[in-house]
Amino acid sequence: MTLGEALAQAAKDLAANGIDDARLEAELLLRHILGLDRVALYTSLEQTVTPEQAAAFSALIQRRITREPAAYITGHKEFFGLDFQLARSVLIPRPETELLVEKAIDLAGTVFTQSCLIADVGTGCGAVAVALAVNLPHARIYATDISSAALEISSSNCLRHDVSDRVTLLQGDLLGPLPEPVHLIVANLPYVRRSELVELSPEISKFEPHLALSGGADGLRMIGRLMGQAGRNLLPSGAVLLEIAHDQGQAVCEMARRYFPDSEIGVVVDFSGLDRVVSILT
Ligand code: GLN
Repeated sequence: MTLGEALAQAAKDLAANGIDDARLEAELLLRHILGLDRVALYTSLEQTVTPEQAAAFSALIQRRITREPAAYITGHKEFFGLDFQLARSVLIPRPETELLVEKAIDLAGTVFTQSCLIADVGTGCGAVAVALAVNLPHARIYATDISSAALEISSSNCLRHDVSDRVTLLQGDLLGPLPEPVHLIVANLPYVRRSELVELSPEISKFEPHLALSGGADGLRMIGRLMGQAGRNLLPSGAVLLEIAHDQGQAVCEMARRYFPDSEIGVVVDFSGLDRVVSILT
């Protein structure tokens, strides 16, 4: 059998088991086994598959059929053009979260141009903190997480992208471990309503850490707690950027108005036109 034939068969198996984007997913898993980029795979499709390759590929396809996300199987995910190491202890970075990074980069480039101290709260694999550090050479970043397993992953991602000197990892609850106030707080906190967790796809509900997803009964528990802590952890004229679910814009803005009555509060929509980020400019 050739690599091309093995790929076609695997894509068929994934599709038959209800996996979307079966061909792309099969390609990703095969490339992972062979250590090839896309172009290299395409120029190798006529090669014969060795028995070892066939066995390894089939094992990964079986894992994907159980709905384990490809990012956990390969241990990698791309975010903001950067490759991140991943494990089951952290949420898989989503493309939507790139909007949070873009807005933070905008603010750092227009408002906090001299010095820029940032807190990334609930950093997980460190995707947001590392993307900010790579794109903002003048920024220093505190990245917090309550999970020590998450901090191990984010630490290795800081090293991989050579930003360990400007990203300080801190274990603790929300802003609790912050040693000094910052100009900008960014956070992609858990915001899924507890009752809706089971309705998510099995990739999410069975495999991703509920600690990183569940925002309590109304989904806003962690966001509300962070707002309660934000004021005393912000420098004068500081800002807060929060990722939210598409139906939380109004509730989060109302909450923000209670904590920050004199601030400019707004919602930013994502590439699908859905509410995705709430910004608070104090
Ligand atoms: N966007 C994620 C999802 O619904 C939720 C992430 C989060 O709770 N911060 O899959």
